[in-house]
Amino acid sequence: MWPVMDGIKVVSFDVEGTLVTPDFSYAIWFEAIPRHFADRKGTGFEEARRAVEEEYQKVGDQRLEWYDIQYWFDKLDLGIPDPVMEGYQSRVCYYPEVGEVLSSLSGIYKLTVASGSAREFLRYLLRDIEPYFARVFSSVSDYRRLKTPEFYRKMCAVLGVEPAQVVHVGDNWQFDCVAPGEIGIHAFYLDRKRQGDHQNSLASLTQLKAHLSG
Ligand SMILES: [Mg+2]
Repeated sequence: MWPVMDGIKVVSFDVEGTLVTPDFSYAIWFEAIPRHFADRKGTGFEEARRAVEEEYQKVGDQRLEWYDIQYWFDKLDLGIPDPVMEGYQSRVCYYPEVGEVLSSLSGIYKLTVASGSAREFLRYLLRDIEPYFARVFSSVSDYRRLKTPEFYRKMCAVLGVEPAQVVHVGDNWQFDCVAPGEIGIHAFYLDRKRQGDHQNSLASLTQLKAHLSG
């Protein structure tokens, strides 16, 4: 049973796993950083990769540093992230339905981004689709927090809308569904692999479009 959605003004999208495949981020975290670390240390790639991954695990994805590329470049003494990320731009890959869905929804709703990725990443991840979005929110860069209910509350305040006028979609159950749902946003869980058994789950963004068009 799908919720009734009247008076929707804003459609908000998570980025990684929702609009963009994980390829670019994976390449940065598990190829580029270990490679530069190996060069700096004069060790082999595999050894560097193990050392770097160990450091990632010590921090874990519940802490802000996990998402902070500058933190890692400083910590591992790798210099400036931008030239490295620029070199990986070709690894940014959008899911096949993204262009069509954004272009058809953009005439009807205000489209926004609500991402847990840092702005340094979003610059590259959104490069080809940024014109579709009226606002881009990065919970880490803008508010120094993960995607909590408070983050979504601030987002609604900035947009000047009530949570009930917002639809959000994303692939993380906690950050994209539970958190926005808690303040009354219509949250959809994108389960591209169809592994879970969650209510309001979608297999693709095309299904979201179908719900929004009635
Ligand atoms: Mg995601």
